[in-house]
Amino acid sequence: MTSNQQELIARAQKVMPAGGFGNFDPGIVIREGHGSHVWDEDGNEYIDYLIGSGPMLLGHGHPEVLEAVQAQFGKGMTFFASNAHGIELAEAICDAMACADQVRFVSTGSEADMFAMRLARAYTGRDKIMKFEGGYHGMSSEGQMSLAPETLVNFPLAVPDSAGLPDSVRDEMLIAPYNDIAFARSLIAEHGKDIAAIIVEPLQRIIPPAPGFLQALREECTRHGIVLIFDEVVTGFRLAYGGAQEFFGVVPDVCTLGKVIGGGFPLAAIAGKADIMAHFDKSKVGADGFLMQVGTLSGNPVAAVAGLKTMEILRRPGQYEKLRASGEKLMAGISDTMDKAGQAHRISGFPCMFDVVFTDSEIRDYRDVVKGDAKKAATLNSELRKNRILKSPSKIYMSLAITEDDIDATVQAYAEAVEALT
Ligand code: PMP
Repeated sequence: MTSNQQELIARAQKVMPAGGFGNFDPGIVIREGHGSHVWDEDGNEYIDYLIGSGPMLLGHGHPEVLEAVQAQFGKGMTFFASNAHGIELAEAICDAMACADQVRFVSTGSEADMFAMRLARAYTGRDKIMKFEGGYHGMSSEGQMSLAPETLVNFPLAVPDSAGLPDSVRDEMLIAPYNDIAFARSLIAEHGKDIAAIIVEPLQRIIPPAPGFLQALREECTRHGIVLIFDEVVTGFRLAYGGAQEFFGVVPDVCTLGKVIGGGFPLAAIAGKADIMAHFDKSKVGADGFLMQVGTLSGNPVAAVAGLKTMEILRRPGQYEKLRASGEKLMAGISDTMDKAGQAHRISGFPCMFDVVFTDSEIRDYRDVVKGDAKKAATLNSELRKNRILKSPSKIYMSLAITEDDIDATVQAYAEAVEALT
């Protein structure tokens, strides 16, 4: 007899390319989530460190978020016209993010990044975009350049990481190694007058910025009239309430947000300085400077109430301390397990998101991560899944729902999984 899950997987293979949504291993179908746990369609229970790829920072089905969403459901799902919740959410984002005078809503982080880059081009009248190898900025043609390249070429050449990308886009990209201040400065010295924006994940995947790196980008952008874009789709309201810009004390010109601000619903945003955001307003910049931006679900009221309630909960005292403390405990537990098993490794990242890389050298950029033992990591991940830990192949996302018992069980699962490596 085939299981419920196996039957669904077989059905998906017929009607979906690669048998899934393109996001995650199509070999698991999630039925439901509550707090820090999810269940698959066969009823297997997992401790959830995928958290929907980031949005479910509070855990699944937080009662107060559910209540807020259910109240909105009764009043309507979407209007296209402005609604009070979206306006309130824009105000809350402006209060939280140092760079934000104004906010424009979209539905996904990819869209937010695409518009942020276009906005920088509109504002500066320049075409080139500088990004860092391995940096994730969504699915636009620009975002797909040197996202996770298998071939490592000389900087600043871009590698298209997808079929279907025009060479013309590749030629407008300048790719730099993350955390290399000297390289960034020399690239900007050479091309500065043509660069519209530098887009950067202030914490690139799980790689922390080296001391002074973000500050150096800030200085160079100011000096050369380049728009500094922090992609805070992941870090916003996670690394700190005010995002990486608060945590590292470096303020970009524009940031992009997603994940947490939609409380589990599709909502993302571009937030930035008023003179730049003015390019979304034809009455301010005229037809030539105007950047058209329309989206059917932008500022959706259900997503807005879910995001607002999530953010209200995050503002309560002690939340970030709790997130940090449980992340630190898990990092230490995993590291200890790896040490005991004699596995050379680094735990890279911050307590709110991190992962194990099997390497004995420091991790400062994408190439350092690639140098890690990927086969070992894949084996570890698959053993963890058998031990009922759900995580992305390259990241653990902590949630506020994770309990002490979850952490103990997770460390135990790592201890068992690591045996498969020797
Ligand atoms: N930027 C970053 C840093 C991301 O991690 C992601 C999604 N993982 C995106 C942008 C794109 O967001 P979305 O998947 O909502 O399009």
